Amino acid sequence: MAVATPIQIRFERFDGALGIAPAKPPRVVTPEEKPALVARIKERLKAMDAVLLAHYYVHPDLQDLALESGGTVSDSLEMARFGHDHPARTIVVAGVRFMGETAKILNPEKRVIMPDLGAECSLDLACPAEAFSRFCDEHPDRVVVVYANTSAAVKARADWMVTSSIAEKIVAHLHAEGRKVLFAPDKHLGAYIRKVTGADMLLWNASCVVHEEFKAQQLEELKLLHPGAKVLVHPESPASVIEMADAVGSTTGIIQAAERLGAKEYIVATDGGILHQMRKRLPGVSFIEAPTAGKGATCQSCAHCPWMAMNGLHNLLEVLESGRNEIHVDPAVGKRAKVSIQRMLDFARLHLPAMKGSGDA
Ligand code: SF4
Repeated sequence: MAVATPIQIRFERFDGALGIAPAKPPRVVTPEEKPALVARIKERLKAMDAVLLAHYYVHPDLQDLALESGGTVSDSLEMARFGHDHPARTIVVAGVRFMGETAKILNPEKRVIMPDLGAECSLDLACPAEAFSRFCDEHPDRVVVVYANTSAAVKARADWMVTSSIAEKIVAHLHAEGRKVLFAPDKHLGAYIRKVTGADMLLWNASCVVHEEFKAQQLEELKLLHPGAKVLVHPESPASVIEMADAVGSTTGIIQAAERLGAKEYIVATDGGILHQMRKRLPGVSFIEAPTAGKGATCQSCAHCPWMAMNGLHNLLEVLESGRNEIHVDPAVGKRAKVSIQRMLDFARLHLPAMKGSGDA
């Protein structure tokens, strides 16, 4: 069996220095072994009273498996909601570590496991809890809003946690109440929300290694080759790319925009994993990944999150058989973090009753 070598992912730290973190690709699945692996995983999920939550960015095999076994494929808001409402005693999160932590915070009595605990996120890594807490202390007049892509300790320091599906609405709500906002960690998402809401927002300095790579000039060139294509952009992308969008939205928002706009061709600026659900929902429609090459590109991610890619069928089965890779959150930290998450869930229930992820499609 070939052993995968970790690749070193570079990301910009909050202080402008270079951070480096490893990402290890999972063991490759051959077509011959896949049916047996899938069958065994389904058996184990049932035997363990477990439910599989998969993010849109993980491999299509895991997305299909989550849906076939009664779990969900969705964005992080819907993953949080689904895991919270589902009766299973074990939650299996195919995503990155902050998603596992969020599931554990919302369900401290349940067991939460993940195929690989080393699945990081550059936004989370670039927002260390102590430095962030100092930053908050320096701005006591601001309500602290943090993106879901943060550690439990950072969520515990926040007043609100938001996902990209709901961030704009919550900040608009706070702005209407006359509140000033401190937003972390994604500077592009923060700048976009500041622009559309007009809120007074102070931003932390971090970005996503995947969305940072999308390039406006190359997108312009691609649009010339596909003049009928509509452009769908995730707001973690740079402002120059967002400006070219026909629709800006979270992962769920992007899928819904493709259904609504009715084009025959779309250029999609987010992790390419999302195309699997888009192609299933809109057969016959063409989806093109937005370009990541060009000036300033490192192409270390190329529209695919290296940490999301650490989830695979082999390591999923391994943890279901061994019981390893359980997520633990300090109960005191979890209790405080839950307040900011619950605030968002309550807001969503009140203000977005019709909103639901796409995992049940
Ligand atoms: S795609 Fe970006 S924001 Fe999402 S988990 Fe990967 S590094 Fe984090």
